[in-house]
Amino acid sequence: MNTKTKASDRVEELTALIDDKIDALMADNDWVNTLKFMSTQHNYSWQNQFLLWWQGLATGTDITYVRGYKQWQEIGRQVRKGEEAFDVLAPLIARRCAEKGCSHKGRVIYNRATKSFYCPVNEAHRVEQFLTGFRDVKVFDISQTEGDPIKMITFKDKCENASDEIWEALVSLAESHDFQVELRSAGSAEGYCSHQLKKIVIDPSNDFGYRVKVLAHEIGHLLLHADIKDYAQQRARYETEAEGVAWVVCEALGVHSDGDDYSFGYISTWGGENTKANVKKSLSSIQKTSKTILDFIESSL
Ligand SMILES: [Zn+2]
Ligand SMILES: [Zn+2]
Repeated sequence: MNTKTKASDRVEELTALIDDKIDALMADNDWVNTLKFMSTQHNYSWQNQFLLWWQGLATGTDITYVRGYKQWQEIGRQVRKGEEAFDVLAPLIARRCAEKGCSHKGRVIYNRATKSFYCPVNEAHRVEQFLTGFRDVKVFDISQTEGDPIKMITFKDKCENASDEIWEALVSLAESHDFQVELRSAGSAEGYCSHQLKKIVIDPSNDFGYRVKVLAHEIGHLLLHADIKDYAQQRARYETEAEGVAWVVCEALGVHSDGDDYSFGYISTWGGENTKANVKKSLSSIQKTSKTILDFIESSL
């Protein structure tokens, strides 16, 4: 009997795990613990963040930094004998003809001269990249390896005494989208973002860390909610997305302040049969947007 799990079965198992994790989040509305992991693994997709989080908990490993076996060797570290790998899922991408009605379903052809791909039916057909599935990739945490010390520069180290720089970076990010950031009373709110006026207003009366949080929240709205038409119906969800972005960004930067008050709406109010799909979309939005913001800040520090 073949006891080895087939790779495709493993992918199914992992996908089911991600699903379970979403069910758990929906049941207990525990955003802080979900986002905590996101803030340390922001280069991973939210699905892989879930997978690493769960596997870390299940094995009692404090996962901080993972790479593949060979990738560790490349930077002078060796995975210790007997260490069990963790799994992440890597997308399988294939180029296919995207022309409507084209009969060609298989591979497209690579033209070396032009370094481009074309459809064998007609070279003018549009060729696009499609996600065709996932494969299981084995990774190890740094704590499972030994060898050359590596420089782990975390955001928090980088940001020490860089508070003004963080604020300035966030303001430049807003400005790069043609938005003005103004420090003045925002009425009954701590801040707001108006896509119509291309303006973010932040109440200056809060302490610095808190203002950074509010600005990150409003930039979350700026980047995520330009085109939504159902804000009134989906308010809890959209506010949770903006708040989630702010939480991940501030956690990664180490700028939470004492008076921090994060309010995450209740998933139970996200509406009917689409709730789970909405949770997935929101997790993806939070992950991508936090990454965009953190990458921008990192490049400007
Ligand atoms: Zn074609
Ligand atoms: Zn908001």
